[in-house]
Amino acid sequence: MAYLMQGLCGLPRYEPGEHEEGEGFVRLNTNESPFPPSPGVAQAVAEQIDRLQFYNDPDCAALRAAFAKVIGVTPDCVLAGNGSDEVLYWAFMAFADASHPILLPDVTYSYYDLFAAALGIPLERAPLKGDFTVDVSDYCGAGRTVLLANPNAPTGYALPVSSIEWIVRSNPQSVVIIDEAYADFGAESCVMLTQRYPKLLVTRTFSKARSLAGARIGFAVGCPALIEELNSVRNAVNLYSVSRMAQAAGEAACRENDYYMNNCRRIVASRAYATQALRDRGFTVLDSVTNFVFARCGFMDAAALQRALRVRGFLVRRWDAPRIADWCRITIGTQAQMEALIAAIDDIKKEGDTHAQRAD
Ligand code: PMP
Repeated sequence: MAYLMQGLCGLPRYEPGEHEEGEGFVRLNTNESPFPPSPGVAQAVAEQIDRLQFYNDPDCAALRAAFAKVIGVTPDCVLAGNGSDEVLYWAFMAFADASHPILLPDVTYSYYDLFAAALGIPLERAPLKGDFTVDVSDYCGAGRTVLLANPNAPTGYALPVSSIEWIVRSNPQSVVIIDEAYADFGAESCVMLTQRYPKLLVTRTFSKARSLAGARIGFAVGCPALIEELNSVRNAVNLYSVSRMAQAAGEAACRENDYYMNNCRRIVASRAYATQALRDRGFTVLDSVTNFVFARCGFMDAAALQRALRVRGFLVRRWDAPRIADWCRITIGTQAQMEALIAAIDDIKKEGDTHAQRAD
């Protein structure tokens, strides 16, 4: 640490979900898609190999145009980055600083803490209500930059567009950032509000619904003037961050959007199955509109459940954080994976019951 600048000493660490690719684990810990990318993606990526000596398009023009068409805005309303994490980091740089804090919920996506720490931006936290829902009044007339993951992670709850509009209208002088990483699984997207509210910025990702987590593709959507401001930051720090392969993959994914929307419907069906099956086994499960469920086990603590599932080949996510330490976040995989998970839980419960009987 001898050379690191004082302000950056002691940065918190982001603990990514365990990465156990290819070791026989079912990865239900990072909210990836269980489905592979659509067929056109492989071909589009392959076509770029022979052109890798050339720089990629810094404007990501074709990718932006393709995504703009999918969501129904013009390309100048869209900016592309290396995953939505990068886009969010630029938004922190652009719309907050040491004397302009960001207001956000106490329980939300934990990477925000690191962006803020790295940039010296204070965070002000509005506690979620006891039932983990957002108290909209906390954000109305806040008079500061607001950040909401909608749907929120790890709860899986979303606010309706009308609530987002209320928050945006009551903060005419402040940028409101809505992180819609999980918006494709049943929540209402507020991207169209960006056409009416010049300070609303919406971020999206191709890491979840579009099966491209490893390609790193994310977007910001806003009115052209706001996007231009964000673009001036992007220009200064990482103009070429979306590789040739990623741009081609993203464009192909836009062309094959129906494939991904169909996969989302499959996830939604398996989410309904998993939610009910967990509840039948005594879990408390929040009503998710995402590709994960947030659940508390009724018969053992969350850390023990996480360990027991790991032994049986399933990775799930848990945090040692206030309010949520006894909850697990479980990604929705294929229907077969969900049925296997439930069978593993039955096995864990049975083993626990047997131990309890022995102890009697
Ligand atoms: N926002 C939320 C709420 C997330 O959960 C994630 C993924 N972990 C991201 C943003 C970032 O996703 P990516 O950088 O892969 O687009």
